[in-house]
Amino acid sequence: MTVKNLLGLGLTALKSNFTTLDKPYKLNYCITYLCQSRCLTCNIWQMRPKGELTLDEVREFARKNTSFKWVELTGGEPFLRDDIDEIAKAFKEHSKSLYILTMPTNSLVNHDKVVFKLERILKLGIPRVAVTVSLDGYRELHDRIRGIPGNYDKAIDMFRRLKELKKAYPNLFFVFGYTLSKFNQGQFEKTFSMVKQDIPDLRRNDFHINLAQLSSNYYGNETLDIKPNDPVVVSEIANILKKRDFQVGIIPIIERAYIKRLVAYAKTGKQPMRSRSLEASTFIDSYGNVYPSIMWDRKMANLREIGYDLSRIWHSEAAEEVRGMTRSGTEPAQWTSCEAYQTLVGDVLSLL
Ligand code: SF4
Repeated sequence: MTVKNLLGLGLTALKSNFTTLDKPYKLNYCITYLCQSRCLTCNIWQMRPKGELTLDEVREFARKNTSFKWVELTGGEPFLRDDIDEIAKAFKEHSKSLYILTMPTNSLVNHDKVVFKLERILKLGIPRVAVTVSLDGYRELHDRIRGIPGNYDKAIDMFRRLKELKKAYPNLFFVFGYTLSKFNQGQFEKTFSMVKQDIPDLRRNDFHINLAQLSSNYYGNETLDIKPNDPVVVSEIANILKKRDFQVGIIPIIERAYIKRLVAYAKTGKQPMRSRSLEASTFIDSYGNVYPSIMWDRKMANLREIGYDLSRIWHSEAAEEVRGMTRSGTEPAQWTSCEAYQTLVGDVLSLL
């Protein structure tokens, strides 16, 4: 199953080098905008979501759209949805070649509950289940950026719990997610050494790096001043890249290529490569609104209006117009990990 699903993902990614896919293989789905954090970089925590898709609606969507090989269940805090395991199950049941399921967490949900839900997800037989534990700095810095005293200690505890869980579930993978912004620029090395005191076998590759970006259709943070100083952050990302451990495998290769282009993006603010938004992937918010990506505020439809069936809009004039923009380089600049992986594998030469 693992090899077959991995091959399926690889072949689809390869195909996306030569042709426009007629179905997306990566789904970025915000399952809830509920969030107990108070981040300085994001306004999602201020939202009071009402009318989010119900579990039955998600099941209907999963039943009618079966091409996903990679599903990201994001939030808000995704573990605030009690039915996160049932949502994962719906995608696993209908997308037979699902290879990877990814989820972030802010570590603020009771950890026993997170582990309980994760175990149910891990038992579904998805070859790769990956959790990103948000951590934006050493103790005082992380708690200040996240606005929650004690959040750092909870993130460390969450990471330790995942290490324990990994012993029983080899299909579990996890990293810290470090978002660079003006609030923590220049602080990665200090953060790494302090976290290493708490987790002695920590490696640099245990951190996944993002750059804080503005998005009106997702983070709702377009009015926030979060942009780091360019030269500081450019040299910081370059240094992070230089010090990463060498690892064999396709995912470390893609991760390096992603960080390399993050340096270019931080330097120029320009899209380093044309994205595969609305070709390889799409973003759906918790109300069922369909967008090309989390960074592209162009609503294509609402799932409730199209019978939960993406094929009804995938070849529409509006969708073709969006693809035309990605081809002509006029799409909004973005370089987030939600989009970057499928962009990179859609141009395999970029991985060399
Ligand atoms: S960055 Fe994540 S944890 Fe912070 S407010 Fe936004 S959704 Fe919540």
